[in-house]
Amino acid sequence: MNVAYLSIGSNIGDRLYHLTEAVRALHSHDGIIVTSVSSIYETAPVGFTDQADFLNMVVCVETALTAQVLLEECQKVEHGLGRVRDVRWGPRTADLDILLYNSESIETENLIVPHPRMYERAFVLIPLLEIAPLKASAVKDTGVVLWKKVNGVNDLLREGE
Ligand code: ATP
Ligand code: CA
Ligand code: CA
Repeated sequence: MNVAYLSIGSNIGDRLYHLTEAVRALHSHDGIIVTSVSSIYETAPVGFTDQADFLNMVVCVETALTAQVLLEECQKVEHGLGRVRDVRWGPRTADLDILLYNSESIETENLIVPHPRMYERAFVLIPLLEIAPLKASAVKDTGVVLWKKVNGVNDLLREGE
């Protein structure tokens, strides 16, 4: 089973309905289980700023689908919610992006994972951190090793005594 994190945003019409229907559509797919959902955040638009505020959230899914097929399912959900593709970064009923897929790096013509702009977007990182606390497994192959857990300032200062 694969684990992926998806961001979902909406800034047209009944935004909460669009988020919940997107989650419902994902969860009702045979190959996708939504295992956790973040809170919902309201965000001023970035990029093309002359548009309504977004509601944003991040969900974690377990899936048997490849990243490519998962992207196609996300696009089906967008279309099902009536998304019309016109202005890049423009208003949309639902935008579903793949942020992470296991710890894979993917670069094909229509899919880049990790999502190349996620690190500069607070509206992605804040909900992501809520449901994806940094786990030991996330740092496994990075060359960064947990050396000592520090439980607060006093704990650290006692070390030097
Ligand atoms: P941004 O990608 O900056 O959030 P956007 O979501 O508004 O912008 P879209 O118009 O929804 O952009 O998507 C443009 C294309 O991005 C899609 O057709 C898709 O093929 C491609 N894409 C590349 N990587 C990803 C990814 N990780 N998740 C979703 N789409 C991706
Ligand atoms: Ca997006
Ligand atoms: Ca998108």
